[in-house]
Amino acid sequence: MSNPSIPLDVAAAEEHLMRFLAVEGVTGQEANIAAAVSDALKMIGVPASAIRLDDANKRIPLPTEIGNLIVDLPGTRPGPRLLFSTHLDTVPLCAGAKPRREGDRIVSDGTTALGGDARTGVALLVVLAETLMKHRLPHPPITLLFTVREESGLHGARELNPADLGGAVMCINVDGMLAKDLIIGAVGQENWEVEIKGRASHAGVAPEKGISATLVGAIALTEARQAGWFGKVVKPDGRGTSNVGIFGGKDGKPAGDATNVVTDYAFIKGEARSPEAAFATKIAKGYKEAFAKAQGEVKDHEGQTAEVAFSHQTSYPPFKLAENSPVVKRATKALEMLGIEANCLFSNGGLDANWLDKHGIPTITIGAGQAEIHTVKEYVNLAEYEKGCRLGILMATMEE
Ligand SMILES: [Zn+2]
Repeated sequence: MSNPSIPLDVAAAEEHLMRFLAVEGVTGQEANIAAAVSDALKMIGVPASAIRLDDANKRIPLPTEIGNLIVDLPGTRPGPRLLFSTHLDTVPLCAGAKPRREGDRIVSDGTTALGGDARTGVALLVVLAETLMKHRLPHPPITLLFTVREESGLHGARELNPADLGGAVMCINVDGMLAKDLIIGAVGQENWEVEIKGRASHAGVAPEKGISATLVGAIALTEARQAGWFGKVVKPDGRGTSNVGIFGGKDGKPAGDATNVVTDYAFIKGEARSPEAAFATKIAKGYKEAFAKAQGEVKDHEGQTAEVAFSHQTSYPPFKLAENSPVVKRATKALEMLGIEANCLFSNGGLDANWLDKHGIPTITIGAGQAEIHTVKEYVNLAEYEKGCRLGILMATMEE
């Protein structure tokens, strides 16, 4: 539904999106897309002095070309500062994407993903700045945040310095599919890994002298499942999910390399998610206990056991906004003005919003048309992109 009070230039908005989709920028390699965004902002009249990169990349434990891109737009009316955020990076499957228009969609050539996740957000933030400036729309001070390394672990949002966000009181994060869907909370995640050092022995000549690391792992995972910690976890004191993603050996190689040798080493890695941070930790501890139990069950002929080193750490914290919090009310009201009924959702995956909320800025995540993300079937739904742009402009300009 179009709203005559929002002067959105739809053709210009689609041009921005097409241009940003064509710039490669897989996670950790965001320098080119950041430059393209800076150029676009300068073209529409944002002074170079208002555009900067932070130093989050120095704290990210993975090679990362640049820090987060932060842009300050001075208010044209007084009011508390608003933050609009999205992520610059795309998943590696987007490398080499060739976006093209097909009816009311933008698609890739089918050999790569497209990168609408989250270039729809990147374009939306640029469209927002352009529309506000071109039409001199009254708005409070606004900060635009384009994060790096979201796809590889929410690193840019995690490592940013909240003081760089100018005291923003709420954030609108753009990283979703449908404009009507408002993500107001998400699970937290705990990662765990275990190294099992057994002992090699000839499997035909003296199997009793070996300690099989793969057997310890297999028994542990069976134990974890029987104790209710695998897959969907529902316990009286909490709920969540868990998975065992990697069961291998050293440096990404298989566990063991010959059938006639008792496997002396295995590496297993998994995750646990829950709306409650403490329960995600509890799931990880459930796995820890299972590995300890399995360790005691696998012995060589002298009663020796494998060494089992289990560790776990928080990947990101969960969050949940109250439905009557100012940012949810603002988004709901803006959707209502667009004739769209809001649908509040809780996500089972982490978002930059998890960290922004942790940094003290209540953050809602809105959608702008990205669809079938992380697959070669990825496309952008242009009708939803347009709605998302209108929603963003409205949220930036509306009075309370
Ligand atoms: Zn995304």
